[in-house]
Amino acid sequence: MVYLNGDFIAKDKASISVMDRGFLFGDGVYEVIPAYNGKIFRPTEHLDRLQKSLDSIQITNPYSHNKWINILNKLVNHSSSTNQSLYLQITRGTDTKRKHNFDALTPTIYVESNPLTSKTKQELSKGFSAISAQDIRWSRCDIKATSLLANVLYAQDAKKHNVEEVILYRDNQITEGATSNVFILKNNILYTHPTGANILSGITRDLVLESASACSIQIQESSFSLDNIFTSDELWISSSTREIMPITKLDNKPINQGKVGAIWGCVFEYYQRLKND
Ligand code: PLP
Repeated sequence: MVYLNGDFIAKDKASISVMDRGFLFGDGVYEVIPAYNGKIFRPTEHLDRLQKSLDSIQITNPYSHNKWINILNKLVNHSSSTNQSLYLQITRGTDTKRKHNFDALTPTIYVESNPLTSKTKQELSKGFSAISAQDIRWSRCDIKATSLLANVLYAQDAKKHNVEEVILYRDNQITEGATSNVFILKNNILYTHPTGANILSGITRDLVLESASACSIQIQESSFSLDNIFTSDELWISSSTREIMPITKLDNKPINQGKVGAIWGCVFEYYQRLKND
């Protein structure tokens, strides 16, 4: 069952017009929200970010906070999966003619839920590989836009190289991952790119910072270079569906001699507690 424009229907019955601006231009925004044990995780944070994305592209939020929560809960409760990943998308709507500029339209609203399997500590403790690449995306990466061509190409590159993520740099400073935020730990200080137009302000990013503080780690929201990664003690990526992953190899070179660090373990444990609160 999925939600489309007011109706809960079977996924194979859900369809939209070819004149939808989401289809024609990628003119829309989205959110990915995890639910653990049937409970939506950090709904207010995700819906606040959705509001910011909508405001940035001049779409009026079609629903109140409560209406969104009701739709999300209905999908979560309908599924038999304990943990789920909710995907929510709003496009500007269906036009009469393909043109770049827009008039006021009725937004197209789509929500689906899929099973979410989190990796165990043991699985994560093996460490993961990543590659680096120049950040070729536009200058409003703070908007969670459905137009994701650069990210699609990065994901394909990651698949080709059999790595977990592509870590991006702009002017020799690491911004974020193609689908995640990036952190390095050096001498018990955690560094991550500051929020702003060059990164998506990850909901998990905030929780990583909270978890690291709880592990007595100092936080510094400042950018760092590719070279800083290779001399760091730990490298992590974070996202709602992957949580906090230790990266132990970048561009085929080991980080921290290819070993997962101890602080990651503390942050991982604290994050699990937040999930189960
Ligand atoms: N940065 C980018 C480019 C992303 O696509 C994502 C998530 O998909 C994130 C960061 C992490 O955001 P969140 O923690 O809210 O899932």
